[in-house]
Amino acid sequence: MLTITADTPVVIIGAGPVGLAAAAHLAERGLPFLVLEAGPQAGYSVLSWGHVQLFSPWRYSLDKAALRLLEPTGWKSPAPEAYPTGRALVERYLAPLAAHPALAPHLRLGRRVAAITREGVDKLSNAGREQAPFLLHIERADGGEELLRASAVIDASGTYGTPNPLGASGLPAMGERAAAASIFYGIPDVLGAHRERYAGKRVLVAGSGHSAFNALLELASLAQEAPGTQITWAVRRGGERMGQAYGGGANDALPARGELGQRIRTLVDAGVVRLVTGWRTDRVERIPTGLVVHAGTRALAPLDEIVVATGLRPDLAPLAELRLGLDPAVEAPTALAPLIDPNFHSCGTVRPHGVDELSHPEPGFFIVGMKSYGRAPTFLLLTGYEQARSVTAALAGDWEAARRVELELPETGVCSGPVVAGGASTGASCCGPTETPVTTSSLIELSPVVALPKGAALIALSQPAEASSCCAPAVQASCCEPEAKADCCGAVAEPVGETDKLVALVPASGSSCGCQ
Ligand SMILES: Cc1cc2nc3c(=O)[nH]c(=O)nc-3n(C[C@H](O)[C@H](O)[C@H](O)COP(=O)(O)OP(=O)(O)OC[C@H]3O[C@@H](n4cnc5c(N)ncnc54)[C@H](O)[C@@H]3O)c2cc1C
Repeated sequence: MLTITADTPVVIIGAGPVGLAAAAHLAERGLPFLVLEAGPQAGYSVLSWGHVQLFSPWRYSLDKAALRLLEPTGWKSPAPEAYPTGRALVERYLAPLAAHPALAPHLRLGRRVAAITREGVDKLSNAGREQAPFLLHIERADGGEELLRASAVIDASGTYGTPNPLGASGLPAMGERAAAASIFYGIPDVLGAHRERYAGKRVLVAGSGHSAFNALLELASLAQEAPGTQITWAVRRGGERMGQAYGGGANDALPARGELGQRIRTLVDAGVVRLVTGWRTDRVERIPTGLVVHAGTRALAPLDEIVVATGLRPDLAPLAELRLGLDPAVEAPTALAPLIDPNFHSCGTVRPHGVDELSHPEPGFFIVGMKSYGRAPTFLLLTGYEQARSVTAALAGDWEAARRVELELPETGVCSGPVVAGGASTGASCCGPTETPVTTSSLIELSPVVALPKGAALIALSQPAEASSCCAPAVQASCCEPEAKADCCGAVAEPVGETDKLVALVPASGSSCGCQ
């Protein structure tokens, strides 16, 4: 890798939580860096969902290096057990961090990285490749362009700008683009800024994760105040599998999550939300009375608005000239993908990971944060902060720190089985325990409204292991395949919606199972 100098600094793409965490770590290590942010302020993507409440309390939402910078400045730490909204995360944490003297001079706002290559060396060429600096093509908000050299690049640009389409096949449905003015991708602020857009309207919500749940709940509240608001909810799964979509209810170890699903069920049962199952949108048609959404031979009654909450995907176009090692399905780094692939990890046990799992055939290039998970739905800030710590340590040549696992992961009491006194898990029964510390980030859906119960934990901790157990890291994939899990653990936990980013856990009858 090229030497890191002021002329060829480390360039971080994106001033979101993980990009700024990487910056904080580089600042601590005294390495030259620049942060390029497309938006007009740090945390720009988070602000897009600023009205949404995180499911992680403050104590799981802050990076340690960032705290080390902020605390001596008199910065007032939020209450650790309180749950921030996206806006609070920006205003109380990301904005002060971005304004810190160690970061502010190195932050460039209104700079969108359009493409990255190696200077004078195209993708095909080997000669001189590793000695050539990275060259970033930047589009400025004022319409100008820039080129920037870098010794290393950390792509922390997230996925919020590239939502999955309404079309069930992964491409926009026929007519979807033409109907764009009536489609919202993500979580609209139904009770705030977008109230007028939805009040008294016929609204379709597509997607079966907790983002969709949130939109449905807010629309149901709006319907009470704004007569004529009609809510249709379309999901891929068949009706016979809807029970799982609602989550574990009272059996859910995260009571607020269970309650959320039950509230949706109640709304469906009461007819407030009209549920359409087995739905795979392939066409959107505008007729004089509204938008008609088709799925093969079926069609919904005309609508005014559509909310698409079907997950996110990474924008790989700016990286086309780099040699990437990405899983063809998950679009996450090859070594990381098997740990998070929702085809196999129904609840998921994601080992803490760092520079080794995040490396590409292109030395000096890393994808971290939400984007590192590709299309997998289950990224957590804590995981991203650990990625940033490990990658920046490696860039500093501190390989011991880069390969040390520093993630302090609280237990869920869900994936690891019941928590007993002292914090150990009893999850050893049918599957046996696992040796490697595991995170349960896949368990924690990206719910906007689900609050972890006080004292509940996000992450399963290391447990003594038997290498041959079905939960041993080497066989995690087969262990976590739903049918295998059912055999093994007596329970099935599965993604809520194939294109959705959220995962719900259906609690096992044998809930002490280690691989649950
Ligand atoms: C609604 C919602 C709720 C969530 N709740 C939680 C939660 O409770 N707990 C949790 O742990 N995780 C949660 N997540 C998941 C995840 O932690 C967040 O999405 C988090 O914001 C990811 O941080 P990031 O830094 O990787 O990316 P982002 O926050 O998306 O930041 C990326 C930044 O890069 C910028 N950018 C994008 N493209 C470019 C470019 N080409 N050039 C320059 N800049 C660019 C963007 O403007 C943005 O500022 C939630 C996600 C969503 C969507």
